[in-house]
Amino acid sequence: MKNQEISDRFNEIADMLDILGEDAFRIISYRRAARQLEALTEDVEDLVREGRVASIPGIGAALGEKIEEYVTTGKIGYHEELRARFPPGVLDMLRVRGIGPKKVKLLWQELGITDVETLRKAAETHRLRRVKGFGEKTEEKILRSIELLKEGESVFLLAHAHAVATMVTDYLRKRAPVKELVAAGSLRRMKETVHDIDILATTKDPRAVAEAFTTMPGVREVLAAGESKSVVLLDAEGRFIQVDLRIVEPGSWGAALQYDTGSKDHNIHLRTMAQKRGLMLNEYGIFRDDSKVAGETEESVYSALGLSWMPPEMREDQGEIELASKGATPRLVEDGDVHGEFHVHTNATDGVDSLETMVDQAKALGYAFVGISDHSVSSAVAFGLSAEKALARRDRFRELNRERKGFTILFGTECDILDGGQMDYSDEVLKEFDFVIGAVHSRFTLPIKEMTERINAAVRHPYVNILAHPTTRKIGQRDPIQVDLDEVYAACAKAGTAIEIDAYPDRMDLNGPQARAAKNAGCTIAVDTDSHAKDHLAWMHFGVGTARRAWLTATDVLNAWPLEKIRAFFR
Ligand SMILES: [Zn+2]
Ligand SMILES: [Zn+2]
Repeated sequence: MKNQEISDRFNEIADMLDILGEDAFRIISYRRAARQLEALTEDVEDLVREGRVASIPGIGAALGEKIEEYVTTGKIGYHEELRARFPPGVLDMLRVRGIGPKKVKLLWQELGITDVETLRKAAETHRLRRVKGFGEKTEEKILRSIELLKEGESVFLLAHAHAVATMVTDYLRKRAPVKELVAAGSLRRMKETVHDIDILATTKDPRAVAEAFTTMPGVREVLAAGESKSVVLLDAEGRFIQVDLRIVEPGSWGAALQYDTGSKDHNIHLRTMAQKRGLMLNEYGIFRDDSKVAGETEESVYSALGLSWMPPEMREDQGEIELASKGATPRLVEDGDVHGEFHVHTNATDGVDSLETMVDQAKALGYAFVGISDHSVSSAVAFGLSAEKALARRDRFRELNRERKGFTILFGTECDILDGGQMDYSDEVLKEFDFVIGAVHSRFTLPIKEMTERINAAVRHPYVNILAHPTTRKIGQRDPIQVDLDEVYAACAKAGTAIEIDAYPDRMDLNGPQARAAKNAGCTIAVDTDSHAKDHLAWMHFGVGTARRAWLTATDVLNAWPLEKIRAFFR
């Protein structure tokens, strides 16, 4: 679909206008249009063909023409004109966190820096501090941001890799005679980032499967092609991801799946256990001398070691093997246990879809309720709502609750935690909401003590019910804030404030080990998507995966509770 391509170009136009210091209103209209296109489920080419471009919300005549131009000619003249005014590499510098359009302009025009690599060298050799507004601290920050950027480029976010893996397995199921087919590796363990995709299959015709795999759409390079293993580089929206396909004998299916799922530490622990029993464990099965004792299913492999099967998300050698040896593996929370969520944005602030659309999508997912939590006034970049505007929506929520029978819409807010831990709305305003999410969106660099006090003041605030994305990290962009999480968990448990697993793909905050520590400290955990468009609600799957990595059961997860119990928790 051309939707993403046009969205990228609109964002680039906005960036360029921003660097050139053009009118803020125009810049915002390009950014809004870019987000609309990204969230659009219809193919923009169909809309152009049917003359329905004007039906895309928030896109006026001028931008509509540019969309048509791209669909018919493959480019946008205005975009090309602007691009010609910038040396290559200048726009990439915007991806370095802390470098906004104004700084890019200064670096370019005063130091002649036009790409990230030159920027890194200039920071290392302390050339940046010669420019007004740049100091030693800025140089350090820029160097760390570039490091993060490079780290981010070497991994794929779980949601992204999962989408690619699903595309590959769907394709193989349609085009090749596969029997078993599973994406294993860290993807199956639901790690928040993965390096590559490992797919396992069984088949009666290995050659046909390998052929289909190495010639599927999107393959840019075939690194290996054989009847037992093939490796390709797949084009995943402009980046190459390595996908391995291993074809195994049905008798070794369970052993191969277990082996390829990992983790390394989990597998080392199992191998040691096997050796102690006079067995040998490898990717083909479990053997005593030369005879195979297990391997067809994962259950048989674990059982030969005296263990019950354990969910892939637990397999990190963090005590799960000891539990399984006692048959005490918990029943972890599952997708089906979740009846709703709390952290959802609409186009009243920085979301792209309307309140009604988000509500209906939540309903279509089979939820019983959805909490809507748009931004508070200080979140200027997110178009935060003034207290008056926020409260003025309450009537519409009441109406919607009457219209959507059997479904509950909770009236909430994601309220900024200001400096010193004060909330962005007054108590008189906060008490009007069904629930309040507290979140840090500014001043990320406070010292650990101040930051912990700031967050815990909000956690203890009588009207705050959930602490959102507690570390504020963004994978590949922003480090976690300095905060004593153990103190935050303790404060949450004591105050009866839930702590969040934010499943937005580049957040995953808390992550698995952190959420496990929070549970052990007595916290209730809310699993949310932080959706900004209706399709984002499906990311709940990755939030639940993270909860499973934290060993959470349905009892630990606030949105798996009955609504009445949730309301009581909020009160
Ligand atoms: Zn937030
Ligand atoms: Zn949010």
